Amino acid sequence: MYYPEPISKLIDSFTKLPGIGPKTAVRLAFFVLNMKEDDVLDFAKSLVSAKRELTHCSVCGHITDVDPCSICQDESRDSSIICVVQDPKDVIAMEKMKEFSGRYHVLHGAISPMDGIGPEDINVPGLLSRLKDEAVEELILATNPNIEGEATAMYISRLVKPSGIKTTRIAHGLPMGGDLEYADEVTLSKAMEGRREL
Ligand SMILES: [Zn+2]
Repeated sequence: MYYPEPISKLIDSFTKLPGIGPKTAVRLAFFVLNMKEDDVLDFAKSLVSAKRELTHCSVCGHITDVDPCSICQDESRDSSIICVVQDPKDVIAMEKMKEFSGRYHVLHGAISPMDGIGPEDINVPGLLSRLKDEAVEELILATNPNIEGEATAMYISRLVKPSGIKTTRIAHGLPMGGDLEYADEVTLSKAMEGRREL
């Protein structure tokens, strides 16, 4: 009620973003007011096009503007190894490391019975159908090193084992309870090197 309607709407929008409290939202809203109109338009356009033009790859689940994504389309990558991650941001972290040349599978979450999230609620069925169609020899389970991530890795490992596909879990140079995407490249690289068979 203290602000004119357009700015209070903008403040509300910023408040919906993660990690943005009311004070920061006000600061950002006023910052936008002081930006050049062209820059504001560019900003608004990139918000809309990121949302509209990006989709999930129908093969691996990664975010992409072409389907299948560029990683799935890349013939030079090793299709016998799939690295299973929780989030598209984890794929980006792995790619920055520049050491993994296999393919990915993005689960979009982890199994969490406490929150009522089961294997069917994340991209596990998609993974199973890939394993039927593709000649996969190893699944690297690179879910987050926390309870949900561990449970998800164990679940997938048990599910896949009878098919004879090797399942490995990345090593714990990674901090427990952490998120894969925040690991630095060296830690991530060591974790991949030190993966062990489940
Ligand atoms: Zn893909």
